[in-house]
Amino acid sequence: MHDILPIDYKYYEKVLETGKEVAEFYNFQRIETPILEMSELFEKGTGETTDIVQKQMYSLKTRGGDALTLRPEGTPPAVRLYLEHGMFNYPQPVKLWYYGPFFRYEKPQAGRYRQFWQMGLEVIGEKNSIIDAQTIQIYYNILKELKLNNLIVEVNCIGDQLCRPHYRKTLASYLRSKDSNLCADCKRRIKENPLRILDCKDEKCQAVKAHAPQMIDHLCEECKHHFKEVLEYLDEIGLPYRLNPYLVRGLDYYTRTVFEIFQEGKEGQAQTALGGGGRYDYLIKLLGGKETPAMGGSLGVDRVVQAMKEAQITMDNEKKVKVFLAQLGYLGKKKSLKLFEDLRRANIQVGESFDRDSLKSQLKIADKYGAQLTLFLGQKEALEGTVLIRNMETGRQETVKLENAVVEIKKRLKK
Ligand code: AMP
Repeated sequence: MHDILPIDYKYYEKVLETGKEVAEFYNFQRIETPILEMSELFEKGTGETTDIVQKQMYSLKTRGGDALTLRPEGTPPAVRLYLEHGMFNYPQPVKLWYYGPFFRYEKPQAGRYRQFWQMGLEVIGEKNSIIDAQTIQIYYNILKELKLNNLIVEVNCIGDQLCRPHYRKTLASYLRSKDSNLCADCKRRIKENPLRILDCKDEKCQAVKAHAPQMIDHLCEECKHHFKEVLEYLDEIGLPYRLNPYLVRGLDYYTRTVFEIFQEGKEGQAQTALGGGGRYDYLIKLLGGKETPAMGGSLGVDRVVQAMKEAQITMDNEKKVKVFLAQLGYLGKKKSLKLFEDLRRANIQVGESFDRDSLKSQLKIADKYGAQLTLFLGQKEALEGTVLIRNMETGRQETVKLENAVVEIKKRLKK
């Protein structure tokens, strides 16, 4: 888990602002779910056999005996919210977005944290393939708006309840025949979740994967048709994508379309995906609702920030100090505190250094800020009820009445 320092916070804010702008353009509405949920939600929703549930959850028992988990991902909580608040009665689809911290017990390494931030979008109640394409496009647009280049979307279709069980069997029987060439984790996965082997990054498993039967050749007619349409929509909007038959994503609830977004050259490594998601047509029913199709995904904000920094994208959202307020002596300080508040009310960005007593050191700070005007309020000015305004460019100095200070400063400020 890591701290976010001011220098990085600007990037996090930029991602949030951009994500919000884009999501709102597409009529998504923001939600917030609690950071703690009943463990059961993820055991059921994310899936008992997934790495997240088996190895990565931070879980605890309350004094009352409830089993709770720090949310490792956002989709099951969003679906819980949809069901709990009767959103199935709203006009469908319901489009929701969220931003916040998520928690997974991971081996910490670059791009993998135990507390990380995600921005997620969920479209609940629509099965049409156009939604799959548009959801992918929204993530792509957010990254583009953030000025990230060389983006590539990887897509795959992992079938549905009709065709996947059959493929699972075919794959499992192929894998059993290659059992001795698999890593220890994958040996276990053959029985529990053979599709996950396609996702394994272990050297040992690569050769086995290369010859494995592919889902795309085992899709039922409906899935094939749905996927064909998704790709045609992506072609139509000119989105750069690549088919990746090994992309299965780690979670049980995905059906049909799955995707991940990378920067070209960095794809294929586990901790470089900037975001990902997919369709989850059975999750709502699994969590107690009616059968309801849905599509969603999330951006890994920490990784997006990292990519922005690597691309040397600079943040210039610091408020520019236009006026610096320098003071001398106790009386000067007293009047300055009041003037400072007057300037705040007038919405003039003002810098100060109330803790300094030397005029020289205060002027140095004014210079560093690049202030247009510096105000002086010393013992003499305080007694006379005036303030001295110095134009930092021309060096010209004028004394004005304290009660007119705000108006006089405004007159002298360049826009
Ligand atoms: P996932 O649904 O697990 O693929 O997560 C979606 C996105 O969140 C990923 O593409 C990553 O960008 C990001 N992400 C997932 N896990 C972590 C982590 N442990 N640390 C940082 N970012 C993560």
